[in-house]
Amino acid sequence: MAKKKRTTRASTWETRASFVFPSLHDKIVEAASDSLLSLWFKQNGNDNDSNRRYSTYVNGTFSCASRTCRTAGWSSGKVTILIRRFGENGYDAEVFNQRCRTCNCLGKLTLDEQSYVDRVVYRLKRWAGIATDRPPYTQKASPPHRSALCEGCRRGVCGQVNS
Ligand SMILES: [Zn+2]
Ligand SMILES: [Zn+2]
Repeated sequence: MAKKKRTTRASTWETRASFVFPSLHDKIVEAASDSLLSLWFKQNGNDNDSNRRYSTYVNGTFSCASRTCRTAGWSSGKVTILIRRFGENGYDAEVFNQRCRTCNCLGKLTLDEQSYVDRVVYRLKRWAGIATDRPPYTQKASPPHRSALCEGCRRGVCGQVNS
């Protein structure tokens, strides 16, 4: 039987350029518990404090934040996520919003939890030097990444040289 898909709405459905999901930290800890101990989530981290950064994609669905727009919403397998490491065990992950192709309003994100956990844990293990299989290929069939509608592109995060 197919497992029910778990999703997390961005908190309070605010529309912002990007979101963080500290509420998913417990799931990260659980998924990494075979090899990474003492992980902690960095609050209000920034690029300057971090010693590692990596951008990749997760899955999510969006609805348009405009009350007057009649678009049905959209799903994306290319929702940009920027994962950062702080010290040895600290990390955060910023997920970038997309804009509605009909009216250009910011979207409201509903995040696919499993893709988030897979990507973050995989990256933290790689940074820790732990051999690990690539995460299961969970990326959805999805239109190409549209830079004009992506807040990650606007911040220069997408496809940046990963360090
Ligand atoms: Zn719209
Ligand atoms: Zn982008």
